[in-house]
Amino acid sequence: MSDLNPILSGSVQSIAAYQEAIEQSTQAVVQWLKQPEMYQGKTVAELRERINLEFTAQGLGNQAAIERAVEYFLKDSLSVHHPQCVAHLHCPSLVISQAAEVLINATNQSMDSWDQSPSATIIEIKLIEWLREQVGYTAGDAGVFTSGGTQSNLMGLMLARDAFFARQGHSVQQHGLTGNLSKIKVLCSENAHFSVQKNMALMGLGYQSVTLVKTDQFSRMDLNDLKEKLAQAKANGEQVMAIVATAGTTDAGAIDPLADIAALAAEEQIWVHVDAAWGGALLLSEKYRHFLNGLELADSVTLDFHKQFFQTISCGAFLLKDARHYQLMRYQAAYLNSDFDEEQGVPNLVSKSLQTTRRFDALKLWMGLEALGKKQYAEIIDNGVTLAQQVAQFVVEQPQLELVMHPQLASVLFRFRPENGDTAGVALLNQRIGDALLASGAANVGVTEADGVTCLKLTLLNPVVCLEDVKVLLASVIACGQQLHNA
Ligand SMILES: *Cc1c(COP(=O)(O)O)cnc(C)c1O
Repeated sequence: MSDLNPILSGSVQSIAAYQEAIEQSTQAVVQWLKQPEMYQGKTVAELRERINLEFTAQGLGNQAAIERAVEYFLKDSLSVHHPQCVAHLHCPSLVISQAAEVLINATNQSMDSWDQSPSATIIEIKLIEWLREQVGYTAGDAGVFTSGGTQSNLMGLMLARDAFFARQGHSVQQHGLTGNLSKIKVLCSENAHFSVQKNMALMGLGYQSVTLVKTDQFSRMDLNDLKEKLAQAKANGEQVMAIVATAGTTDAGAIDPLADIAALAAEEQIWVHVDAAWGGALLLSEKYRHFLNGLELADSVTLDFHKQFFQTISCGAFLLKDARHYQLMRYQAAYLNSDFDEEQGVPNLVSKSLQTTRRFDALKLWMGLEALGKKQYAEIIDNGVTLAQQVAQFVVEQPQLELVMHPQLASVLFRFRPENGDTAGVALLNQRIGDALLASGAANVGVTEADGVTCLKLTLLNPVVCLEDVKVLLASVIACGQQLHNA
């Protein structure tokens, strides 16, 4: 039986099988990386037809299963590292992040309790301490790694809600929601991430609890409208449980005026959560760190490392300014984080997380920081911001293109604009350009709306992409647009 044992262990057979399977997989990845195309261009229908599970009685064995994954998954994957792959906040990954994944996966530590991840728990705690320092929080370890921005935003909103009820002497954790719930509001800008809405619905307060604050011409929260919305809420007998400010909106990369928002919120004892899923990358920047001034005033912060920190998915963090608020989600499970453990000072991170079993994603950022060092990490982050400015300048110089908004982080919003195109026609045309480029496998550009204007979006995270690469992409946008327009 032992030579058939499929489990990873220290046995001679298992180690041999592990090395073979990993070797075969990395060889396949190397071949895939060498593929020149961004995407093979298969349609939804073609992939549905092609991809089928082969779950046989005897099993195919590791080698055949890997071969099938290469054939049906790898070959038709999107090359996220390709210079023409710039649609989303979806980053190419660091080599060191790949190495970290090998260690994370093979050890399979679980971050819920110290006895399932002893050294990993300490590394995560030290990294949270370090991240708090970068943000400008006081020393401490209140915070945790998460699956990403959506979960971090949920933690911020949930603790804000529970702190709001706690101030009125009510424990949501014990007794659930109470009172006239339609009067409880969250304010965020029109350009805040949709996870605010989804999370409020999940928390039992519904989309109706989200009041959208207007934005200025750069998609940043408009402070006058924020004051107005706060005054209106008061006049309507509503209570604002939180303001969500965004540091780096998903399309425009806009950073709300963090310090001013915090000052307004402080007057009324309102929780401020800053969604810095994207803009948080500037914590490491040399040139642009000051864009985040005021972040340290937030009650809680979302950071994502699988965006402009170039870590593999998933890797995010939630930081909480005042550790006492963690009491609001306290749950003591006898088998994981008992009082006994806590009295002994044993750190069981389940107490800080919504998840129970949890990956050791922190190792990726830890190794990334150590491997790259401050200077190189800053450079690869700053590169995208600087490149976006250069690309915007180039777009302005092209008669067939129109810059829709001046870039703030690493994205460029623009559109193809034929001479005799009407508004509706231009919107549809830009949508079709995006679709046609992906279908051809040549490029993946984003299609979105800015202030009601349908436009194309380049998210220029990839630090090895240069202006010349983007010029090639823009030439295909123009060629494709011209062709569709003339057709
Ligand atoms: C990407 C993003 C999110 C969601 O984060 P996930 O990691 O995808 O869950 C939230 N907010 C902003 C501003 C984002 O850009």
